[in-house]
Amino acid sequence: MMKPNPESASSPELSAQDIQNRYEFVFKTTGDGVLVLDTEGVIERINPAAAAMLGVTVDNVRGQPARVVFKANFSLMTLLDRPDEQAVDVRLPRKRFAVGVASRMADHSQIVVLQDVTEKRDLDSRRDALSHTIAHDLRNPLSAISGFAELVVKFGEINPQQEKFLTRIRQTAAKMHDMAKPLVDLAWIEAGMPLAHRPIQMSDIIQSVVGELSALAQSRKITIVISLQRPMPLMMGDPERMRVVVYNLLHNAVSYSHPEQPIMIHAWSDEQEIYCSVTDRGIGIADDELDQIFDRMYRSKDDRVREIAGGGLGLTVAKTIIERHGGDLWATSRYDGGSTFTFVVPTAQKQ
Ligand code: ADP
Repeated sequence: MMKPNPESASSPELSAQDIQNRYEFVFKTTGDGVLVLDTEGVIERINPAAAAMLGVTVDNVRGQPARVVFKANFSLMTLLDRPDEQAVDVRLPRKRFAVGVASRMADHSQIVVLQDVTEKRDLDSRRDALSHTIAHDLRNPLSAISGFAELVVKFGEINPQQEKFLTRIRQTAAKMHDMAKPLVDLAWIEAGMPLAHRPIQMSDIIQSVVGELSALAQSRKITIVISLQRPMPLMMGDPERMRVVVYNLLHNAVSYSHPEQPIMIHAWSDEQEIYCSVTDRGIGIADDELDQIFDRMYRSKDDRVREIAGGGLGLTVAKTIIERHGGDLWATSRYDGGSTFTFVVPTAQKQ
């Protein structure tokens, strides 16, 4: 290995040629397409990526007016007419798509940058198709079972025995519906679907999940105490998935708590990290099980857990989502004394 030369530790002034060489290297090797048009709209430069995307060869189009060469590409023409740095969808040959941005320089030349987003668009539509299939194949039949069970009583008298069976059908369908939810989430994650990348206000997610679970908590006379740092910095990520994390942790806290015991959800942050913890005074987790509860389908051997419906997937899903956001999720607990689940994720500023 070459040792660094102490003489050259501070880099010397770059010559105009050095800077030119650097730009030239980026221009030739980047996967994004770059087109430079002169003041008359003539193609002054086009990099190999742009040529490949637009189905032309560099030598054939250099020196030609862009409006003549690309006259059949209406979306590219639209982009050339809008040099206001607004992203525009550009159709490419062979059913591919790019997002393009055009900018007018001070010398009136125009630079166009194209990013091929075909695979990303494909993934987005596969993601939608997957959610649709799961919803259709799993959830709809369950809804049908509950629906028909409701209908039976409307079409004539039923005896007490039949009423008992119907109640069991309804309860089982409701349980299966609850169990299908983490399965849907897990299927989504395991399909390697990309996460959305949007600003997230964690306080909003917490408030909304608490609202959603308040009826369940009230039915067990459980109060959920919220403590939020304000203002809370934003994080970037997938709001739907982050909601699943908070929901799973809070749902567990309610499920594995004793009636009338409060639950506390607390969120705080610094510039780098956002923390969120859910604390209950419930049944707790034995020491020898604490490192297994995040494993897929693991449920405690505790009889009090077995009485409650669950598939042992909620924490696996939550941990995977948090890790895919560059964070971590862990638990501390005392058997019979309650548990705290905490996750940490980077703030938007840190990312
Ligand atoms: P599920 O709740 O469907 O069983 P999870 O993956 O969410 O699946 O949880 C796995 C296991 O971890 C639970 O079965 C339970 O044994 C334990 N657990 C999770 N949260 C708590 C909690 N707040 N208090 C006690 N035990 C918990």
